[in-house]
Amino acid sequence: MAGSSNIEWTEATWNPVTGCTKVSEGCRNCYAHRMSKRLHAMGNNRYVNEFKVTLHHDLINKPLEWKKPKRIFVNSMSDLFHKDVPDSFILSVFDTMIEASHHTFQVLTKRSERLAEMGHKLPWAPNIWIGVSVENDRVINRIDHLRKVPADVRFLSCEPLIGPLNKLNLNEIHWVIVGGESGPGARPMKEEWVTAIRDQCIDQQTAFFFKQWGGVQKHRYGRILEGRTYDEYPEEVIH
Ligand code: SF4
Repeated sequence: MAGSSNIEWTEATWNPVTGCTKVSEGCRNCYAHRMSKRLHAMGNNRYVNEFKVTLHHDLINKPLEWKKPKRIFVNSMSDLFHKDVPDSFILSVFDTMIEASHHTFQVLTKRSERLAEMGHKLPWAPNIWIGVSVENDRVINRIDHLRKVPADVRFLSCEPLIGPLNKLNLNEIHWVIVGGESGPGARPMKEEWVTAIRDQCIDQQTAFFFKQWGGVQKHRYGRILEGRTYDEYPEEVIH
């Protein structure tokens, strides 16, 4: 539920909520869904409900036990703004993030409407980064919802990138992560989609992080784009 992570742009995961439901095309091959089924089959007691939304009250304060500062991905196995997560629980998660100010928290959601609705009621601090997933241009309105949130750092996760995003308004967006889909059934990502996003980040002074090409065997394809890696973080270009 909590611990180190292999995800390139973070260091640890913290899952006070597990389980979710699919909302858009980016969810088709959801890793959390696949892993939850596997962990349920293995008898892991956090996954007795398999992929049904489940609140883990006993994990709310977990990051306070980690003394060494980390970059922490919040709810890699769920979506904090899912309708089945009560407002009070979301507030408790935020209270912990505020208290654990030695960590940096990365919250990522596809429920951008609820995020925009709740945004002004939540406590924010520079160590809480908030992002939305944008897998293709059908969900581009999530970026406008994100812009309404009074956070210091706002980011996009364009993963799995399954279509071109050629008209991004990155005003007040500080960081963009791009990655191809990986694992069984992975859908292809075109290089021109990636370079177009990178170029828009350069033009609009937004940090760009290229995570991976993806593929059924992602380690075979790596994360080199036009001869180099892109590992920028938002601290480098806050504006
Ligand atoms: S929102 Fe995220 S966790 Fe939920 S089903 Fe979609 S990809 Fe999976």
